[in-house]
Amino acid sequence: MAKRDYYEILGVERNASDAELKKAYRQMALKYHPDKNPNNKEAEDKFKEAAEAYEVLSDSEKRGRYDQFGHDGVRNGGGGFSGGGMNMEDIFSHFGDIFGGAFGSGFGGGQQRGGRRVNRGTNLRVKVRLTLEEINTGVEKKIKVNKYISCNHCKGTGAEGGSAYSTCSTCRGTGQVTRVTNTFLGQMQTSSTCPSCSGEGQTIQHKCVHCAGNGVIKGEDVISIDIPAGVSDGIQLSVNGKGNAAARGGVPGDLIIQIEEAPHEFLHREGNNLLYDLYISFPDAALGSSVDIPTLEGKARIKIEAGTQGGRMLRLKGKGLPALNSYGKGDLLVTINVWTPRNLNRAEKEMLEKLQEAENFKPQPGSRDKGFFDRMREYFQ
Ligand SMILES: [Zn+2]
Ligand SMILES: [Zn+2]
Repeated sequence: MAKRDYYEILGVERNASDAELKKAYRQMALKYHPDKNPNNKEAEDKFKEAAEAYEVLSDSEKRGRYDQFGHDGVRNGGGGFSGGGMNMEDIFSHFGDIFGGAFGSGFGGGQQRGGRRVNRGTNLRVKVRLTLEEINTGVEKKIKVNKYISCNHCKGTGAEGGSAYSTCSTCRGTGQVTRVTNTFLGQMQTSSTCPSCSGEGQTIQHKCVHCAGNGVIKGEDVISIDIPAGVSDGIQLSVNGKGNAAARGGVPGDLIIQIEEAPHEFLHREGNNLLYDLYISFPDAALGSSVDIPTLEGKARIKIEAGTQGGRMLRLKGKGLPALNSYGKGDLLVTINVWTPRNLNRAEKEMLEKLQEAENFKPQPGSRDKGFFDRMREYFQ
């Protein structure tokens, strides 16, 4: 099929100014707008054709190539059209300034249906507090939310008896009202959402008494959600269609869940790793021992070797948290602290005094005894 000349499509001279192009395109767009021509394929094609022409001619570089080489000059690398035209979403996002939001709302706020606006329910936000144990395994949570739910009495239509709809007399069913104002640039035509029917194109004759014609009422819903393992504080999860119901049979909003992390009694989270401060007695450090430490999957027993220095760090591989949406687990890092007693009775004091001058009790750090910085480098590299 031969492509029509872009200037011809917009009905302008080849030397048209940017303002003339814009004005011509605006008129075409309003004339063939899908909201005004529901289910009219020819109008839709004309609408897209005009958008394509304007996209090229409004760009001085593309316009130059088009003037010189015709359609071949903008076919490749011309952006957007080589694959057979723009879709509607593209057109509205590209030329939002031309539609000035008046028509844009019909598309941005929900799907188009018969040229009229479809209501969309608002998103609902809830906070969900999780323990580290729940984050470790992932968890199913049932959340009770207060929200707008569809009115049972009228099945969400807002009309008593479910039948009494009539075409809005203000906008004659288009959902839009057009106003013409005189400005120094000439007459400007602006469209906006019809105030009588809020853009829906129809009004209810007998409103449902339960929901006052809204189709929704305040209610409660229990929503069950699967929270994946590895989430962290501040992460948001979105559940499609579980937000507020929309007025009169529209599209419900989403439920947005914000994760909060409850602090753990013993373990501290650092990314996917967990940190634990272990305190052992001086005799245990000197003689060796084994102790229980808390993990997210119950207690784990670790061995304290004879002669363990305070500050030593042990790594329990894979005892940390799983990575969100990927494989692998963090580690549990245990820092060993040797407890120095604060309150001693006379007998204890006497025993220690005997040891105070003993040769083996004098600090003799060797190459095995790494300092704090060496240990940090080793464990966090
Ligand atoms: Zn109702
Ligand atoms: Zn109306």
